[in-house]
Amino acid sequence: MSSSDWTILYGLETKPLERLQSVNPGQMDTRDDGTMVCAEQSCVLDPSSCGAAGDTLTSDSSVLNPPASHPLKVYLRVRPFSKAELANNESQDCVTIENPEIVALCAPKDSSTMKNCERGIGQSVHKFTFTKIFSDETTQAEFFEGTMKELVVSFTRGQNGLVFTYGVTNAGKTFTIQGTPKDGGILPRSLDVVFDHIRGRQYTKMNLKPYLGNDVMKLDPAQIKQEETMKASLLSSLKEDGMKSVLSSGNLRSLTCEDSSVEEQDGNGQYQFSAWVAFFEIYNEYVYDLLDQFPTSKNQKRPVLKICDDQQGTSYVKDLKWFNITSTEEACKILQIGNKNRSLASTKMNQQSSRSHSIFTIRLLKLSHGDDPSVLGVSEMSLCDLAGSERCNKTQTVGDRLKEAGNINNSLLILGKCIAALKQSQNPKKAGYVPFRESKLTRLFQPFFCGKGRACMMVNINQCASTYDETLHVMKFSAVAKQVVQIIQPRNFDFMSPRIVGKDGKVITEIDANVSMEDLLSEDEDEDVDISILSAEDLLRRVEELKEKLMSERQGRLLLEMQIRKEMGEAMYQQMVHLDETWSKRFEDFKETTEEQLENRLEMYKKAIKSHAHRQALEELEEDYVPLDEFQAEQEKVEERDRRIEELEIALDLRKQSGDGENCADSVSGVLDALTKRCQEKEKIIIGLKVQIQNIREEADLNRRQLAEENDMLKQHLKIKEHEIRGLQSLAERAIQLEASVTDLQGQLNESRKLVSAVEICDPKPKKGLFSSIKHSMGTPKKTKSVEKNEETTGLARKKPLLARNK
Ligand code: ADP
Ligand code: MG
Repeated sequence: MSSSDWTILYGLETKPLERLQSVNPGQMDTRDDGTMVCAEQSCVLDPSSCGAAGDTLTSDSSVLNPPASHPLKVYLRVRPFSKAELANNESQDCVTIENPEIVALCAPKDSSTMKNCERGIGQSVHKFTFTKIFSDETTQAEFFEGTMKELVVSFTRGQNGLVFTYGVTNAGKTFTIQGTPKDGGILPRSLDVVFDHIRGRQYTKMNLKPYLGNDVMKLDPAQIKQEETMKASLLSSLKEDGMKSVLSSGNLRSLTCEDSSVEEQDGNGQYQFSAWVAFFEIYNEYVYDLLDQFPTSKNQKRPVLKICDDQQGTSYVKDLKWFNITSTEEACKILQIGNKNRSLASTKMNQQSSRSHSIFTIRLLKLSHGDDPSVLGVSEMSLCDLAGSERCNKTQTVGDRLKEAGNINNSLLILGKCIAALKQSQNPKKAGYVPFRESKLTRLFQPFFCGKGRACMMVNINQCASTYDETLHVMKFSAVAKQVVQIIQPRNFDFMSPRIVGKDGKVITEIDANVSMEDLLSEDEDEDVDISILSAEDLLRRVEELKEKLMSERQGRLLLEMQIRKEMGEAMYQQMVHLDETWSKRFEDFKETTEEQLENRLEMYKKAIKSHAHRQALEELEEDYVPLDEFQAEQEKVEERDRRIEELEIALDLRKQSGDGENCADSVSGVLDALTKRCQEKEKIIIGLKVQIQNIREEADLNRRQLAEENDMLKQHLKIKEHEIRGLQSLAERAIQLEASVTDLQGQLNESRKLVSAVEICDPKPKKGLFSSIKHSMGTPKKTKSVEKNEETTGLARKKPLLARNK
């Protein structure tokens, strides 16, 4: 793989894929030098993101060989100027190939791009990166060698492949695919490689024929005869001077002889191969078989083919004619017959071949050795020559032309949308819907973008100044395509055995043999008729039919939408209920644990206060403690003093009575002095005691204050706890609000249910009114009885008292 496989298109950086995967996608940026650089990086596209109808190839082998991821290969081929173009001054150096991977486009002076640039909108020079760029001097052989080799070799090994050319009309798409009789394009060269590979190992009997998407039908002798007649009559319709392969197989020896591993892998003659081709076009969103006999009368319409899905969800063209081929020459004749039918359509049916997408498909059946071989595998390679990518406004779009231009461009538009969506899907955050099923072309391409096989895009441009704006458009499209990364399932012929069915379409080799393959398939309900050839009445009838169909389709969709809404509503309701339960439980748990914690703390504080008070009291007691003996001794002393005072008073009285006046008075006054002295001493002691008491009181006050402070602290703690409780209450209120919204949803759900039943009953016509009534009812849900009942039964009612209690 060349280093260019890891480049970012529209930019100049070259980074390994591993690195790209880890880089975040960015936006388109403009450099100082005016060139545009896309900072968006490639990343791997998971096939599962390709939509519901994506390819569902899964096998144990994919576990053993994990799918490979490759950026979509986008090759650019620049066409040389024709003499007329040179004479018309078309050469104005618009295209400069800087190196094999980078091309610069410079706007000529009369182009809209240049005019916009002069007005300050956009740039005049754009640079683009491609997997590989081929200049106007590249030969067909060089181009084939540089682009298709890998894909064709992997096709011979069982890998599927898709090649599509993209570009404006006259850019060289058909030249690239088909080439000229003298110088074949990639198609005849691919066929040569295939036939070179299977030479000497061809299974020439026609009894095993491709059937549906990936299966093989076993034909009985009558069918084989029919097959041979059909082929003979098809080939005879072309005069002998038809296109012949200009390449002798020997010319390609260099390409195939290197590939000896393929020979080895194919068991050197153990196997045999059968090649079949089909050629069809998609015109105006109708699929026509280009190998079907062209209607001879003008009123006869071309049969339109349907696109169906097989069991794996792979789209295929139903009733497509397959022809067994044994050489490149035969295949080229068939190609030419298809081309002739295409040009007949353009003259007789007023169709323009440049506006149709033509697809040439080759299927290779790998068979076991022997006369009655079993089918070991089927691989498919399609080469698609897309319609010119020029936009409608440049064409004469009148009447039918407008319709066909619109449709063709619609097909390419959808291809563009798919490519853009695929690129977008690579970012998991932006993954979304890829509208593969919105056009026939993208329906057929879908499997290749979902892992069925390798896809590769050939971009063809001319260098003419007059078509510069369209060419720039093509390049921008390619820039997006280059950023798509394909996941390719590991696949060889043994990857998924095809089923073999009998002539009645019943499976011979696999599953229930009684089941017809057709029964297993999903088909388009559409009756595909080319409306452009219907009469006015038929058209009116068809319009009426389609209107009815549309109406019933709309009703179906509406019902489906209702159903989905209902299911979603229910799922949401369940989720809300679950949420509500979870939150309620959490709230209850939290409340219980917090309450428990608070109670524990309160209990702890109470104990602390008690023990503190006890300790304080003990300390006070210790300080005031007087031993009992001392106290009794003091008591006795006081009593003794009192007794003495009494005795002295009695003695004084007696002296007064006996008249011994003066002596007595002296002795009494002496006693009194002594007593006064004593009293003063006692008073001093009392004062000392009072001081002590005062000190004790002050200390007690201090202790009381400390206790009060501690009390305050405890109160603050309590306040914090109260605050926490209030927080819990607000949580409870939120839970109630959630519950209320759940109830509202239930209301809406009930309304939807009513509407569903109303839809079933009422007239389907007023779709618009029904929608608006749904929207109205969804917008302003009314409370129904059941909702009210629900409210009563839900946690709302349960939580209110709880809140009241908490408040
Ligand atoms: P498209 O299919 O895109 O409309 P064609 O393949 O018909 O364009 O090419 C338009 C003309 O240019 C044809 O005459 C074709 O022979 C010629 N042409 C295209 N590519 C080349 C080329 N690489 N070398 C020479 N002539 C070319
Ligand atoms: Mg063409």
